[in-house]
Amino acid sequence: MVTAGVNFAPSRSGTFDLADEIAELKRERKAVILAHNYQVPEIQDVADFVGDSLGLSYHAQKTDADVILFCGVHFMAETAKIINPTKTVILPDLEAGCSLSESCPPEKLAAFLKQHADKNYYVIAYINCSAGVKALSDVICTSGNADRIVNAAPPDRNILFVPDQNLGAWVMERTGRKMDLWQGNCYVHVEFTARSIRKIREEHPGAPVVAHPECTYAVRMLADEVCSTEKMVTFCKNSPADAIIVVTEGGMLHRLKKEIPNKTFIPGPTDNCFCGECRFMKMNTLEKAVNALRDLEPEITIPEPIRKRAEAPILRMLELSK
Ligand code: SF4
Repeated sequence: MVTAGVNFAPSRSGTFDLADEIAELKRERKAVILAHNYQVPEIQDVADFVGDSLGLSYHAQKTDADVILFCGVHFMAETAKIINPTKTVILPDLEAGCSLSESCPPEKLAAFLKQHADKNYYVIAYINCSAGVKALSDVICTSGNADRIVNAAPPDRNILFVPDQNLGAWVMERTGRKMDLWQGNCYVHVEFTARSIRKIREEHPGAPVVAHPECTYAVRMLADEVCSTEKMVTFCKNSPADAIIVVTEGGMLHRLKKEIPNKTFIPGPTDNCFCGECRFMKMNTLEKAVNALRDLEPEITIPEPIRKRAEAPILRMLELSK
């Protein structure tokens, strides 16, 4: 039997129920499955925990499993490895990267910091960055705790916020703290435009708009609420509206529909045919997840000096977010 494009061996039971297969392998491997809100529904449905970067970081920190199957993109699995150096961390597809993370290579950041040494920057890195960038940072933040992290920054230091210019601008608006912003962005969230949001609002009068802070300023201005994906769940639960327009990566709708089945969720549209789905997040499939658990690869490895330097700012974030 062939499963398209995937090296998948028949299960011991002779059936091809991937959910059963993964449950059995999980027990054998003493593994935990962590999945980001943007993962495909089949992966979300077999995960032990589905959440945003902050929630996933906490779960990665407190797990006593031997193996972490991280269903998200590379920097997320790296983060789990940084705080769990003795555990095996695997990712279904090693090619699952991130345009935002790629917009800030560590060498470029190191050169920038050297060039602007007179600024004595306090570097706040959004978690969507590589281990190399985390190792150059003072503290990490997520969209769920960015205000708190920025407010806790030393008042006498210049702040450099990397790599997302839109999230950085949003946090500046909210905290009033001036920061220099790295000019990176998420290729998915910048596809939503003011025009596309106005249009969908006209089609669904009365439906509030909830948007992710990685969206541009023009889109954020049209939103009723701007927040992390985790806070979107709370917003949608508490909103009196029956229908809500959700402006973020499309995978989020599965979790919302599952947790709030009595409401309608309308995906935020774009001006073109672009579907609002992250091609990197969607590289992971249930078949690849099964293979990863069976073979314990692809495994995430990080040179120890970088891992150690990257750990401190993550732990600082977790401490400040309690
Ligand atoms: S949705 Fe954007 S920020 Fe998230 S992984 Fe994809 S490219 Fe990166």
